Amino acid sequence: MERWQQVARAAGLVGADGVVRPTVFAEMSALAVATGAINLGQGFPDTDGPAHVREAAVDALRSGRNQYPPGGGEPLLRAAIATHQARYYGTDLDPATQVLVTTGATEAIAASLLALVGPGEEVLTLEPFYDAYAGVLAMTGARHVTVPLLPQEGRFALDVERLRSAVGPATRMILLNTPHNPTGTVLTDDELAAVAALAVERDLLVVTDEVYEHLVFDGVRHVPVATLPGMAGRTLTVSSAGKSLSLTGWKVGWVTGPAALVSAVRTVQQYLTYASGAPFQPAVAAALADDDGRTELWLRDLAASLAQRRDLLVGGLRSAGFDVVVPQGTYFVVADGAPLGFDEGVELCRRLPELAGVVAVPVSAFCRAGSTADRALRSRVRFTFVKRAELLAEAADRLGRLAG
Ligand SMILES: *Cc1c(COP(=O)(O)O)cnc(C)c1O
Repeated sequence: MERWQQVARAAGLVGADGVVRPTVFAEMSALAVATGAINLGQGFPDTDGPAHVREAAVDALRSGRNQYPPGGGEPLLRAAIATHQARYYGTDLDPATQVLVTTGATEAIAASLLALVGPGEEVLTLEPFYDAYAGVLAMTGARHVTVPLLPQEGRFALDVERLRSAVGPATRMILLNTPHNPTGTVLTDDELAAVAALAVERDLLVVTDEVYEHLVFDGVRHVPVATLPGMAGRTLTVSSAGKSLSLTGWKVGWVTGPAALVSAVRTVQQYLTYASGAPFQPAVAAALADDDGRTELWLRDLAASLAQRRDLLVGGLRSAGFDVVVPQGTYFVVADGAPLGFDEGVELCRRLPELAGVVAVPVSAFCRAGSTADRALRSRVRFTFVKRAELLAEAADRLGRLAG
């Protein structure tokens, strides 16, 4: 089998007939376009990021910041990322050696995995997992092992004993994601402490995807696992401007950590994109340095407004008859179609446009076929609430048709 076929298979894109299909995200988005349904499948905002940050990019474009930025990122942006980590988490980073700018969190994750794991090694992730993880892991040749996140007392919880028993002699890395897409769970202090203890005990690397770090609700706090005892020297922390600043199309991301690991990632990144987003880098630098506090206010408003929009959608889903696990972070909510008589999330998602004029994606798209998580979460579907309140109100209204 060629590598691309392994990638397609790992990402669940190969049917029983051996034919490679488009992703479920593409299928559902096409369905939304074809039926005029409200697309709550794909997670991107329908309003723009902060005006002052967009204006800073316009200034950069006009003042000739249009050639290759320095490899590794604009020094000002690297310094601003270090400032951001210090302000929110008390982390002390050397911008020159411990910060790398990437083409979105996606490249940060891909370069980290390509740099640090390979055939014969195992990488542990939570399941369900962000779909890119399986694809990139297949490119590295490492084996992807998963630990299920399952509903328990009103949230998706990590079974720490299961995590422990999933670590074997070949385990090299835990690829973590909190706040978590698709479940919206934010790992608790106890869960993070268990991950950290295990990583230290078994000498594992941790790559942690924290792109939703600022999108947390109800007073829940996001804690980077890198700040736990014994973790700073073995953890690469990944984030990006996309989710925090509602600028998903800019693809400005970053990875921070110990100099030796960041240097390893940088070596690989040089031969992936080398550098990107020249005029966006100074704009994101200004946003993260946040000299006037405008970004902090903007982030606070975004989280507050997302919490309200979450409640709006959750209310609609519950009235329609769904069982809902209320998310503490991200901009996604997972709902169970079983009480409505749908045991297969995929089936429900295919019919939802015709039944209610709304599009969602099945949680099975984030699972490996036949796994524990896949079987337990078969009837669940993911909706996004990062859309304007009017649109969510309309979606909630339409979903009410299901109750009838
Ligand atoms: C959106 C998303 C990413 C991708 O981030 P980019 O900065 O757009 O590359 C990575 N991880 C998770 C969990 C995401 O939801």
